[in-house]
Amino acid sequence: MVLEVTNKCSRCISSTCCTYTTEALGVTPRAKSDFDHLLWQVSHQGVELYKDEGDWYLMFIGNCEHLQPGGACAIYHERPQICRDYDNDWCEYDAPAEEGFELHFRNYAELLSYCKKRFKTWGR
Ligand code: SF4
Ligand code: SF4
Repeated sequence: MVLEVTNKCSRCISSTCCTYTTEALGVTPRAKSDFDHLLWQVSHQGVELYKDEGDWYLMFIGNCEHLQPGGACAIYHERPQICRDYDNDWCEYDAPAEEGFELHFRNYAELLSYCKKRFKTWGR
C-alpha cells in the first residue's frame, strides 16, 4: 500500500472523492421521454442525477477499487489524470458537494415528484 497524501487528505478518513464517479449527460433533458429515460437510470442502486451550474450529470456511488482501508490509493503513482488534477483546496472534506447542486435526485421517487411538477401532463 502506498500512502502519499497531503495532511488534509490524510485526515479525510472516508476519502469521499474516491467513493463515486460522475458523467455529464452532455445534453439538457427537456422532453418527457428524456426524463422517462432518467427515471429508469436513477431506479438503479447507487445511480443519482444532479444539475450543477446548468449542466446535468449522472453520479454512480461506489468506492474506487484502488481505495485502500484507511484512505490510501493503491496505485498512487499511476493514478488517472483526473485524480491528479483534483484540487483539495476546497473539496468534500470542507462541505458536501451536493450543497451546491441546483437539483439533486437520489432515486426514482425524488425524480418522479419533480417530473409531475414540471410536466402537468405527466402520466397522460
Ligand atoms: S481531496 Fe478532499 S475529499 Fe478527497 S481525500 Fe482529500 S480531503 Fe478527502
Ligand atoms: S485511483 Fe486512487 S486517487 Fe483515483 S479514485 Fe481511485 S483510489 Fe482515488
